[in-house]
Amino acid sequence: MSDIKEKMSNATKQKGEPKKFIRTPIKGTKYTIMVSSAKGGVGKSTFAVNLAFALKNLGKKVGILDADIFGPSLPKLIGKNIKPETENGKAIFPVDGYGIQCMSMGFLVGETTPMIWRGPMVISAIKTLTEKVLWKDLDYIIVDMPPGTGDTQLTFAQDIMVDGAIIVSTPQDMALLDVKRGIQMFNKTKINIIGLIDNMSFFKGDDGKKYKIFGEGGVEKTAKEFNKEFLGKIPLHQDLRIASDKGLPLTHSSPEHEVSLLFTDIAKKVSEKFI
Ligand code: ADP
Repeated sequence: MSDIKEKMSNATKQKGEPKKFIRTPIKGTKYTIMVSSAKGGVGKSTFAVNLAFALKNLGKKVGILDADIFGPSLPKLIGKNIKPETENGKAIFPVDGYGIQCMSMGFLVGETTPMIWRGPMVISAIKTLTEKVLWKDLDYIIVDMPPGTGDTQLTFAQDIMVDGAIIVSTPQDMALLDVKRGIQMFNKTKINIIGLIDNMSFFKGDDGKKYKIFGEGGVEKTAKEFNKEFLGKIPLHQDLRIASDKGLPLTHSSPEHEVSLLFTDIAKKVSEKFI
């Protein structure tokens, strides 16, 4: 049993835990990794997709589950917006995105359809995405979580076996407050935190100078404060934004790009935890 799996099962066995949840693993994958941010717009989806391709470049079999029911971004990020095939209208086949198995509410209802739903409908959609998709032979599913601590987070915390979470943030104080809330949420729900990522860390100008637009060092400091691993920094880089807008993730289209290499380092750190 891997370190993380052992920690998880010990956690659910602890005495005095107020309520025991039966967490069901997602079928068709060895490990399920959440990418989370307490605040929107910090680059969580961009990170999740590029991490997935960086893991694929290391020879892993990877899937991406876009769990953001209200704001799905996976179809855009992989440049595909097609209706998934189904098996007798019941189980759903993942959509292929450059060799990665992908699923998103965006494929099922269309990217621009607004989801005006109450909590129970969200929970039911998450159940569909985690139970009815025919993921096949995966090492990892990267789950792109919506921001915050709502119904989706609660459903994952109570019902789905998650092997670890990565928290993405920008370094400014406003975002860090939310990160601290996110850490406490994972601690409370006994989901192992793999580590923290500092996105949009700095911008390197043509003059070679690094501009710390969103401040400096905050994510690393927060990781230390909560005794969590700091997994790395991703700069604010125009090529990453352009690649995302084109639906061609940078780590897939330019795996040797300086930013892609940073994702490779992070992917290595993550995969080493699941050997
Ligand atoms: P979130 O999932 O946290 O809401 P997104 O991944 O959608 O955030 O990113 C928000 C915007 O910022 C997108 O336009 C994305 O392309 C851009 N972006 C994210 N990270 C970076 C980065 N490191 N450098 C440049 N642009 C980025």
